[in-house]
Amino acid sequence: MRLYLYDSASRGKVPFEPADPGRVRIYTCGPTVYRYAHIGNLRTYLLTDLLVRTLRYLGYATFSVQNITDMGHMHQGQLELGEDRVIAAARAAGKSAREIAAFFTEAYFRDCRRMAFLPADVYPRASEHVPEMISLVDALEERGAVYGEGGYLYFDVTKAPGYGVFSGAGLGEGEPADRTGEAIHRHKKRPEDFTLWMPAEPGREFRWDSPWGPGWPGWHIECAAMSLKYLGSEFDIHVGGVDLRFPHHENSRAVVLTATGKRFAALWVHAAHLLVEGKKMSKSAGNEHTLDDLEKGPPGAGTGFSPADFRHYCLTLHYASPMNFTWDGLAAAARARIRLQAAFRRAALRETSGGNAAAALSAEFRGAISDDLNMPRALAIAHKAVRSGIGGDVVRSLAAEWDGVLAVGLLSESGAERERAGVGEGEAEEVPPAVEAMARERESRRRERDYPAADALREKIRAAGYDVVDAAEGTAVLRKIPGTRER
Ligand code: AMP
Ligand code: ZN
Repeated sequence: MRLYLYDSASRGKVPFEPADPGRVRIYTCGPTVYRYAHIGNLRTYLLTDLLVRTLRYLGYATFSVQNITDMGHMHQGQLELGEDRVIAAARAAGKSAREIAAFFTEAYFRDCRRMAFLPADVYPRASEHVPEMISLVDALEERGAVYGEGGYLYFDVTKAPGYGVFSGAGLGEGEPADRTGEAIHRHKKRPEDFTLWMPAEPGREFRWDSPWGPGWPGWHIECAAMSLKYLGSEFDIHVGGVDLRFPHHENSRAVVLTATGKRFAALWVHAAHLLVEGKKMSKSAGNEHTLDDLEKGPPGAGTGFSPADFRHYCLTLHYASPMNFTWDGLAAAARARIRLQAAFRRAALRETSGGNAAAALSAEFRGAISDDLNMPRALAIAHKAVRSGIGGDVVRSLAAEWDGVLAVGLLSESGAERERAGVGEGEAEEVPPAVEAMARERESRRRERDYPAADALREKIRAAGYDVVDAAEGTAVLRKIPGTRER
């Protein structure tokens, strides 16, 4: 079955055609690590996870890159303006910008694990790729697309082929294409031209030497340089929130097209925003919630919600539809998740039956996710499956297969699988995503009867302190090896 995705560049659903079917290459604009990710950010990163999981379900191997923007926002000027309380607080506690970035990078990875995101293959840090950014500016200079003075370098957008067509932002309509909010635009010829390099103000911790003096790179060149390094000038899919379409994606794209003459990403997938009472969730709007907030629950309620509940909540809506967050909506999604799990567990305990019905349901599920990642429809098929009278191992393997995409724990916790596998209560803790990924990989090697590869993976899983227990036909359960420490 063919995967169709909505491509924001051509503004239509297109059949997905990877350049190299053996390795679908994906780039996602990652977090700026100066604060905790809010659940709006996480909804956008969920899109990458659903995309990767769907591609794997359909039999593709994936190579996914997500950058970590660990500078830029940590700007002394903004700090002095009191723009960032988190940094201000951390500084007050005697922390450096690097420590702040390291802290929130870890916090972000923890959120990703809690959201059951498959880890990216590479998480390049912007601060570790400045030489690549400098070479890219060099390449742009050679093409006559750079001007500036006093240590400021700008990209001349009139030198980029078809600038503005991608986002529909047309020349002259744009906002000043810079994220720092500083009064540094005095040398710019037009509002869309954007900063490639800025001089470092005294006391700036993140600074690098360059042919243009000590300074630091602009935001758009960061993603351009990191995607070029890890994915090349032509890769398959670029992911981000819809607000990044302009200026960020228009500009990263302009950089790569101008420097290399190549296409850059073949397909652009954008996630719609998470809103609160019609307003985009953001730190500056003061309406943000984090996963920790969800776990605490609404003020005064006394009970909270798990990251899996939030994941389920997100799956009830298509990624391209704006989602209005409400506590009632989350509560309803949490109840629906529990009911769905219970129904799967009950069905799994019945006699094995319904092989043909399961094959048809499986095809429907595949059709739903192949239709631009239609998770609401995929969930509806899961509900339909438990009402269809199928039972036992048939249900178990459907659940395991579908949860490889949905990852909401269709047969989780006290479920039949754990009992069958003899995994005790205390051992049913969260398995690190990297271990889960190896287990899934081992499953597919095993299905292809590549036993040496499957065994090698099992050894790697064991080295990480886990073992796979082959529970029923085609299903495997991960169990922590007692007495080993998580790594
Ligand atoms: P930032 O850390 O601000 O660079 O944002 C990280 C990612 O989250 C980007 O892809 C944004 O487009 C996305 N994003 C920001 N706000 C929201 C929101 N309210 N809902 C969904 N995605 C968002
Ligand atoms: Zn980016």
